[in-house]
Amino acid sequence: MKLKQRSVVQTLKFHHKSKSYYTRMKKISHCKILDIRNLTESTYVLRLEKKDFEFKAGQYLVLNIPGENNAREYSIYSPENVPYIELLIKKITDGDVSVKLKSLKIGATLEISGPFGFFVLRDDKLNENTHFTFVATGTGVSPFRSMILSNPGLNFDLIHGIKYSHEAFDSADYPVNSYTVCTSQEKGGNYNGRVTGYLKENGVRSDSIYYICGNSAMVNEVTGFLEQNGIEPQNIRTEIFF
Ligand SMILES: Cc1cc2nc3c(=O)[nH]c(=O)nc-3n(C[C@H](O)[C@H](O)[C@H](O)COP(=O)(O)OP(=O)(O)OC[C@H]3O[C@@H](n4cnc5c(N)ncnc54)[C@H](O)[C@@H]3O)c2cc1C
Repeated sequence: MKLKQRSVVQTLKFHHKSKSYYTRMKKISHCKILDIRNLTESTYVLRLEKKDFEFKAGQYLVLNIPGENNAREYSIYSPENVPYIELLIKKITDGDVSVKLKSLKIGATLEISGPFGFFVLRDDKLNENTHFTFVATGTGVSPFRSMILSNPGLNFDLIHGIKYSHEAFDSADYPVNSYTVCTSQEKGGNYNGRVTGYLKENGVRSDSIYYICGNSAMVNEVTGFLEQNGIEPQNIRTEIFF
């Protein structure tokens, strides 16, 4: 039988790394679940002990349920300077880890390692008060909330693609004028349609640095659109969740 070829993105998507892969790279901390906050039927915020875990807003950690060898990456949703870590997690129907995580109770212990990743704001640009455009779909908003809450006064626009307006998670955390909600399945956001449609109708800001986070199809489409419209590759940063 001829095997269907997978793209690099697909290969990465299906090749979750084992716990031992990550433990070889970073120390593991055992952190208790302090709180579970349900935002929608499928999306929740897991609050964990922070202990001595330090990170830069935009980075992710790797989480494993003790006794399992099935690690998953999660971007950090909370800001740098609070005494806990929060993760914004969507329970995937038929998903392995996100469903098990949802069934855990406050007080359960999880193994975390990290931080990992380079999807962070450039310090030199922060000092210049540069404008940032953040484009997210679904839980892809997670690293942006951390960046925004860690850097008061940040000059940014956040464009968030969701299906329904009730998925605009913790929208009160963002200034109304900086937060654009694009709802694809109902009217009720600021724009009815996908983030790519919003960008195409509203154009690009040539003085902005773009950060894009979410599913690979959206990230690739937005990146292509920005490049076609003159945004230099060094001013486009991406993080792909799946
Ligand atoms: C750097 C990085 C950061 C990430 N940060 C987050 C985060 O902050 N919050 C979060 O919920 N997930 C995040 N993910 C995805 C996460 O690692 C898991 O893939 C996800 O929780 C599904 O795991 P699972 O074991 O339940 O499902 P699996 O059994 O691993 O996968 C089931 C299917 O669900 C798809 N899938 C994965 N994530 C999603 C999603 N969000 N929406 C729809 N389909 C999806 C997978 O492609 C796969 O086809 C991140 C991934 C990466 C690589």
